[in-house]
Amino acid sequence: MNNWVIGKVLKIKKYYNKLFKIFIKASINKFISGQFTKIAFIKKKKIINRAYSFVNSSNNLILEFYILFIPNGKLSYKLFNLKIGSKILISNKSFGVFILKKIPNCDTLWMISSGTGIGPYLSILRENKNLERFKNLILINSNKFIKNCNYNFEIKKLRDNYYGKLRVLNIISQENIYGTLKGRINNLIYNGILEKIIGLGLNYKKSHIMLCGNPLMIKETKNILLKLRNMDIYKNNITIERYW
Ligand SMILES: Cc1cc2nc3c(=O)[nH]c(=O)nc-3n(C[C@H](O)[C@H](O)[C@H](O)COP(=O)(O)OP(=O)(O)OC[C@H]3O[C@@H](n4cnc5c(N)ncnc54)[C@H](O)[C@@H]3O)c2cc1C
Repeated sequence: MNNWVIGKVLKIKKYYNKLFKIFIKASINKFISGQFTKIAFIKKKKIINRAYSFVNSSNNLILEFYILFIPNGKLSYKLFNLKIGSKILISNKSFGVFILKKIPNCDTLWMISSGTGIGPYLSILRENKNLERFKNLILINSNKFIKNCNYNFEIKKLRDNYYGKLRVLNIISQENIYGTLKGRINNLIYNGILEKIIGLGLNYKKSHIMLCGNPLMIKETKNILLKLRNMDIYKNNITIERYW
């Protein structure tokens, strides 16, 4: 049990389509923005745990997670139904290399996500350390519906704080919404629309691409980047974090 500390739920905010944000107070070891932890509960003397990315920056003591409730899922169901004051186990140690330290210097850092995969980027952008070495930051979140974009208000504020260095875009696959792009990330790269709208190229020598969330989105985007731009994980111009 030494690896686990008890966290206390401070707040839960629930949104359309069973998305929720959960805020937890727990004295865990220092983590690095972009990393994930494990949240757990005990069932029949067994620890059931799952990985969740921090959304809070590493200097904020209140831990924040952005989670999708999965029907019949073991842990997201449990978390969704917690109440203020409920206790839950959190790993003392944090994990993962989806962190800025691992990203080489370049002009443009593309932070591309689907769904709850926006989390680690918000942690990194909220912290705002070690980002001065990039000229441009691009934050992209793809979702089925605009109602799933539950950090848009905060993202606009973040964009203003970066004084033009941070460009943000919502991609919506199932609706036509003014100010967003409709479609799938890989297709929008393939037909050149994403680069045109952002106003910057996915350039082999000048860009690094981070991909986080749905494994299919990661696979399709990786394939198109390799085919069209000769970019790859092994060439160290793509970094990925798969959620399942
Ligand atoms: C490094 C890492 C970080 C993660 N961070 C987050 C996070 O910040 N927020 C979050 O919601 N999940 C995150 N996950 C996924 C999370 O660990 C759980 O798998 C998820 O909450 C489902 O757990 P469960 O026990 O409810 O369902 P399970 O019984 O474990 O069912 C898993 C199934 O649910 C689906 N699924 C899992 N996660 C998602 C998701 N986020 N969106 C859509 N479908 C999904 C997949 O089909 C998967 O096979 C992360 C996973 C990894 C590996």
